Amino acid sequence: MQRRAVPQPVPIRSYGGLDVRLLAICEKCWHTVELDIPDLLRQLGPDCTSREVRRRLRCAKCGTLNPAFQVNGSPQGMMARGYLGLLTH
Ligand SMILES: [Zn+2]
Repeated sequence: MQRRAVPQPVPIRSYGGLDVRLLAICEKCWHTVELDIPDLLRQLGPDCTSREVRRRLRCAKCGTLNPAFQVNGSPQGMMARGYLGLLTH
């Protein structure tokens, strides 16, 4: 059995029912915004993933694309840093 380290994109809706905060962080100027999960689902559809969201985001301050994602405060006390796609179980 082969294990691959390729991160899978995580559907945003998997965070919808959790008590988590989804942050997008510009990697250039560290401008940070909290994303509204229900709003993302309305705009991009129920199957949108972290990867698709990142592709559509642009820093309001410096214009850099592809911000980093951070997920804070899940009920399990899990804290994920970096990209949502790196979340594995
Ligand atoms: Zn920026």
